[in-house]
Amino acid sequence: MIAAGATVAALQAQTGYPQRLDPLDNRILICHALGLTRVGLITQSERMLTADEAARLGALLQRRLDGEPIAYIVGQREFFGLPFNVGPAVLIPRPDTELLVELAMERLPPSGRVLDMGTGSGAIAVALAHSRPDAAVTALDVSPAALEVARGNAALNQARVRFLESDWYSAAAGERFDLIVSNPPYIASGDRHLSEGDLRFEPSGALTDFADGLSALRTIAAGAPQHLEAGCWLLMEHGYDQAGSVRALLAAQGYTEVQSWRDLAGIERVTGGRRP
Ligand code: GLN
Repeated sequence: MIAAGATVAALQAQTGYPQRLDPLDNRILICHALGLTRVGLITQSERMLTADEAARLGALLQRRLDGEPIAYIVGQREFFGLPFNVGPAVLIPRPDTELLVELAMERLPPSGRVLDMGTGSGAIAVALAHSRPDAAVTALDVSPAALEVARGNAALNQARVRFLESDWYSAAAGERFDLIVSNPPYIASGDRHLSEGDLRFEPSGALTDFADGLSALRTIAAGAPQHLEAGCWLLMEHGYDQAGSVRALLAAQGYTEVQSWRDLAGIERVTGGRRP
């Protein structure tokens, strides 16, 4: 599909392969296939591709045209200004989730203990540990494959995180924290978004609870009082239309100061409350 001898400049101009490819995706994949930085794209614009490079780039472009998320193809995504390795075992970190990290940072006392439930790539836990080296960060996940990715990301970012393989609170029995955060699976089973875009390639267990979308949020909220010190916060990310339901379930369980916060798109994305 890509001819050996094509120049870097010509490849950048060519985004119909034969379907239309987003010019930014095209540029990212050219850099990745050729090991070029963005500056290299300009300074080496007349460089010609070898047959090997042409084959490698052609294969990457085809994966993107087949719908595979760009983050899985290049194996990395930036979150909170830090690099995270990602693959099909973990959800791709979303910019929306940076809101949860910011809210967590404001509420974590000095040298506080924080628990991240369903850590996936480790994005939340690693971002917290990196920005707050004083914190004692624990991150759990039920998926050993996800934990392997998360451990790699902690090492990559020199973040100190304790990881537990755990079905929600099971491996944290008897432990207490000063803050609990989570971005759990919250998409209802059968939601059409699951069969669209990047989500088709992401692990379904990280996206959906295979129920009404609220079951993981309920489990986390129900268990948090036994794992939080008095007056400490539980913060959970949720779907665009779930803020009211999550506030209601926290209020029903006696949490105080129950409230939601909006993401950059203006959508109520995180809801939290304090343990009574
Ligand atoms: N924010 C993701 C999406 O809707 C879902 C993440 C999740 O289920 N925790 O694309």
